[in-house]
Amino acid sequence: MAGVPGAAVVLTADQILMAQHRLLLDGMLASSQTTTSPEPLLRGLLLPSAPHDPSTGRAILAPLGLRRVEAALRRDGLAQADVAVADERHLTHVIGPETRVVALATGDPLGLGMSSSTMTAVAGGRIWTEMLFRRVLARVRATVRAAGSPAKIVVGGPGAWQLAQQPDRMGPLGIDHVICDYCEANVTDLVRQVMSGVLLPPVLQGEPPKVSDIPPIVGPATMGAVELSRGCGLGCDFCTLAGVAMGHLSPDTILADAETNLAGGNANLALLSEDFLRYGAEGVRCRPDALLELIRQLRSLRGVRLLQVDHVNVASVGQFGTGELRTLHDLLAGDQRGLCWVNIGVESASGRLVAALGCRPKMGGVAPEDWAVFAREQLSRLCATGFLPLTSLVIGVPGETTEDLRLTLDWVRSLRDLRLTVFPVLYAPVDGSPSPAPQSLSKLHWELLRECYALNFRHMPALYWDNQTRGGVPRSKCLGFQLLGKGQIAQWKTLLWWRQWRAPA
Ligand code: SF4
Repeated sequence: MAGVPGAAVVLTADQILMAQHRLLLDGMLASSQTTTSPEPLLRGLLLPSAPHDPSTGRAILAPLGLRRVEAALRRDGLAQADVAVADERHLTHVIGPETRVVALATGDPLGLGMSSSTMTAVAGGRIWTEMLFRRVLARVRATVRAAGSPAKIVVGGPGAWQLAQQPDRMGPLGIDHVICDYCEANVTDLVRQVMSGVLLPPVLQGEPPKVSDIPPIVGPATMGAVELSRGCGLGCDFCTLAGVAMGHLSPDTILADAETNLAGGNANLALLSEDFLRYGAEGVRCRPDALLELIRQLRSLRGVRLLQVDHVNVASVGQFGTGELRTLHDLLAGDQRGLCWVNIGVESASGRLVAALGCRPKMGGVAPEDWAVFAREQLSRLCATGFLPLTSLVIGVPGETTEDLRLTLDWVRSLRDLRLTVFPVLYAPVDGSPSPAPQSLSKLHWELLRECYALNFRHMPALYWDNQTRGGVPRSKCLGFQLLGKGQIAQWKTLLWWRQWRAPA
């Protein structure tokens, strides 16, 4: 649409963040692909185009982070016409000569995240999240230029730390500013300063609002994302949220965000928190009653289908009674019984190593020598109450010994009788320095990876089938995912065997 004046502020993101994923699992699968997965496959199956308003080009769905920024800008006085959210296919509808700021959200702009480093170490290639971020950035630059707009390009989101750590990478990418961390308290002020040409440093510090001041979203979020809590504060060395205390959104805000998603056609909600079980907690002391009450209210909303959870902590599972876990599972599952998965970070069976990684607070007072048994017990309790844990380990960490790896390998073997998965990820320092090179991983590392993926290959296809069919994904697409899964399993089995064979002892 040539000749549009353009919105003053345009919000956008890459195609992985902007796609219409029906499930949290779909988004996770898409963001774990490397360029060894051909682009037509990615576009055909993993990146369904999200709907947009044909008359304005504005996106109907947007990542939760962009929705919060949009809500903050609107709350602080910008008119609806001044703030447009659009995906890269419709930038020409919303960027014009009047556009002053184009802000992009990113999860992994330089491909330095732990999951990305692991995927590229095994599968090779570059992570698509990085490549598609570069692509949308290039389209933004071209559209701004073609529109004759003086707009500045600003980047934020959970991956902004990577650019802030390496500001010399910003110029060549055409990025004017990066805003770090949660920023709803000062984002409008920063955007207004950029709009009026105030000279600002390249790296800007966001100010988090009090949780009670987090503005409810004004449009539906991709994957039906609903934020329950933010931050964590448990101190793990490899995590950007290590020093950010956890805060819980009020039930009113959570329910309002859930309603906005449901009204926008998202029947499957993704309940986001770094530790779902800590909802309403004072510090690390869980309050099962507060969480159960919230989930009851969410379950009673009209039209809700899947209630998906992302992360929980081992020590928090230990604070829930078995009956409470079962009740929670049943509320999450609703009438359509099925598999409820949860990400859970065990990090290593070596408690010594886990403590050395700064994770002592997440061990919940358990002595390092008891960590492996305690973690297995909690995984077992999750399985017994209907959950399917997606367990994560960190490998290649400084100070890791052969003994630590052997301990963890034996521990993973002890999980064979449980219905769970284990995903080892490569250590990635949060100072932006690179993960260990794949070539530096030993045969034992690869043996551990193979042992874990033997579990994953057994349980992930059934989990996908369960969640997709219950989540209303068309049957043909579910079958497409199963076929893709078979192909990727065969590819990964070969790659893992090959990498172990070639690795140093
Ligand atoms: S428990 Fe998880 S979210 Fe919290 S600091 Fe550790 S890794 Fe980060």
